[in-house]
Amino acid sequence: MSNKPAVIVNDTTASCEGKGATGGHPRVFIKLDGQTRSGECPYCGQAFKLDPNAKTSAAH
Ligand SMILES: [Zn+2]
Repeated sequence: MSNKPAVIVNDTTASCEGKGATGGHPRVFIKLDGQTRSGECPYCGQAFKLDPNAKTSAAH
């Protein structure tokens, strides 16, 4: 859907408020998929990926 590079996050929940060229939207929290460790903002389509080196409570 989007060619924007994924934002690497270090938690299983990302947040997005659409800063930048898209003009912004209400802040939303995106829970990353437990298997793919990635997610996408429903508003602007920004992709998020969990840092493979991140230490999260959900990682184990
Ligand atoms: Zn967004």
